[in-house]
Amino acid sequence: MVRYIRTTAELTADLVELERQIAHLRVQQAVIVNELDRGQARLTDASRTTAEYVQSHADVSTATARDLVLVGTTMGHHRTVNRDLAAGRITFDRAVVTLAHLASHASDEEMAQIADLNLEDARRRLASRKRLTLGDEHSLHARRHFTAQPSLDRTHYRLWGEVPGYEGALIEKAVVERADEFQRQSPDVATNRGQRQADALVAMAQDSLDRREEERDDPNPGGPTVTVFVDARETEPTETAAEVAFGPRVGPVTLESMLCSGSVRVVGLEGDQPVSSSASSRAIPPAVRDAVALRDGGCTIDGCRSRYRLQPHHITPWSHGGRHEMDNLTTVCWYHHHVAIHRSGYHIDPESPPRRRRLLRPDSSRGRIPRSHDPP
Ligand SMILES: [Zn+2]
Ligand SMILES: [Zn+2]
Repeated sequence: MVRYIRTTAELTADLVELERQIAHLRVQQAVIVNELDRGQARLTDASRTTAEYVQSHADVSTATARDLVLVGTTMGHHRTVNRDLAAGRITFDRAVVTLAHLASHASDEEMAQIADLNLEDARRRLASRKRLTLGDEHSLHARRHFTAQPSLDRTHYRLWGEVPGYEGALIEKAVVERADEFQRQSPDVATNRGQRQADALVAMAQDSLDRREEERDDPNPGGPTVTVFVDARETEPTETAAEVAFGPRVGPVTLESMLCSGSVRVVGLEGDQPVSSSASSRAIPPAVRDAVALRDGGCTIDGCRSRYRLQPHHITPWSHGGRHEMDNLTTVCWYHHHVAIHRSGYHIDPESPPRRRRLLRPDSSRGRIPRSHDPP
């Protein structure tokens, strides 16, 4: 049997022809996107921009969605590009770069130079010749905003906003650096980049609040900073009806974590009546906290050098019968404590040495993970 093998020249010709067909389809999409933009389709769902609408509905990347919007909304103003694209003389990517240069008011001379550049150089040229006018800067500055919106049941928040480039880069750098720090300290805690960045943002907010506490002449240093109301009759450890005074509702994980942090006062309720019950003894007494901190001197997780926001933690949780005893408490850094243990469900191996604590993975259901170097 003889197989027909295409030559390099034939393959290349096919590649180019297919790209021409892609351009043809993209132009049709761009025309549709332009109509969606004029019809304000973004208002029909939660999208803030047409690009966002296109991105979510067509399942394309942010860059592709932005390109489609750019071509769709500007193609009509530039007849040459329009004609070249329709005739298949330029690719869709080339049209995007050309239109972007035209939109940033490139001169005819510059446009001629750009036509001779490869796409990457043409894109770079675009970034370097982008000039911000005073008016541009004012409007970027005026558009700045940040919103933290709680869900109706106050179980979670959505955060979004927009800031000018310089401030955005500053925020991004700070968040990324803090997230990387967490990863260095806890390489074996499984988190993705987005999760670590969210953790970083929380840590930064916590730092800011702590600084305020330090600056204020606190008449009651180390005293409770929040009050939590819990159902005094509650016995089930897997769900709680706890509520922070003037704040969000919290689940068992957050409650347990707040109790370790110490800056909390627990009030047991029966109906709406405060009662004296075991609930109020759930926070670690200050003297025990101090003694544990003195004994441990730093995070006790094996290999961790962090001294960031050290806190005592119950090795056997209160909800599983663990008590505020020295042997049941160990010092951990904020990331190991808050993120790895309480949020992600890792727990401390009670059999690990007191200064070199090991974490057990969440799926080990409070059992021990066999380790290759452990004796059988
Ligand atoms: Zn804890
Ligand atoms: Zn640690």
